[in-house]
Amino acid sequence: MRVHRLEKVLLYEEGLAETLDVADIAEYLADRLREIEVEVRGNPFALCPEKSNDYARKLASIKIQHASTKIASEQEPLSGEIQYEKRRILGETRAFGVLYDGFHLQRLFSELIARQERALGFAHILLTNRLFATWEEGDRRYHLRTSVYGFPSIISTTGLVEAPAKPREYYLLKQQYEMLGKDLLELKEGFKGGFIDHEDERLTDVTKGYAMQAVFHSLTGDPFCEDRSCRLYNAHWQAELIFAQLESEPEFCEQHASILESLCRK
Ligand SMILES: [Zn+2]
Repeated sequence: MRVHRLEKVLLYEEGLAETLDVADIAEYLADRLREIEVEVRGNPFALCPEKSNDYARKLASIKIQHASTKIASEQEPLSGEIQYEKRRILGETRAFGVLYDGFHLQRLFSELIARQERALGFAHILLTNRLFATWEEGDRRYHLRTSVYGFPSIISTTGLVEAPAKPREYYLLKQQYEMLGKDLLELKEGFKGGFIDHEDERLTDVTKGYAMQAVFHSLTGDPFCEDRSCRLYNAHWQAELIFAQLESEPEFCEQHASILESLCRK
């Protein structure tokens, strides 16, 4: 497999869960990638505060209104929606109730990247708690995503919780709980550990594997691996995610481990 030369990995973050430790993720990447420099950049919106209004309008215009309606490229947002996005950009709220079109969001974030760093030698990774989905032509609806890889790669900590499916029994019981007006916390307690939850203390470790998927996208063009025990496995279930990211040893399959080894020799 052809491996591209990577000089630097840049990590950006915005509106993250309290439990997410970005410095720890950067340290992990630096350790695995040895020669490749890893830098934490913080909130990308803070780089050009004078454009906050413009970005707020753009963010509000890429909101998904219905799962089965593909958004038009030029949706006219309401002023309340723009105000909400402005507060979000300024860090006055970290709410994650809005669902965005993932590819439009990626394009918007790409505008925030400095011109001199728009090169193949740089891997830009944005960690966000914004929830996004991508449109699938097959069943003509949006599907929640944990990540979209490319320029830049975006990883959603909310997506890691919401996108991979929970056990079927959980959904069945959830319906019953809702019908009976029972406390959902009690239900979650029963499944404790079985899936990643909001503010889960395992979120940082899980995100490390997804950041690695983004790095591999830059290195080889393919972020994923077929091997269920490799951190590059594209999990569709929470149980698969937990196994690939937290339980299986070693972290990477032979092929991907050897690519990481080869980086260290350069
Ligand atoms: Zn692998």
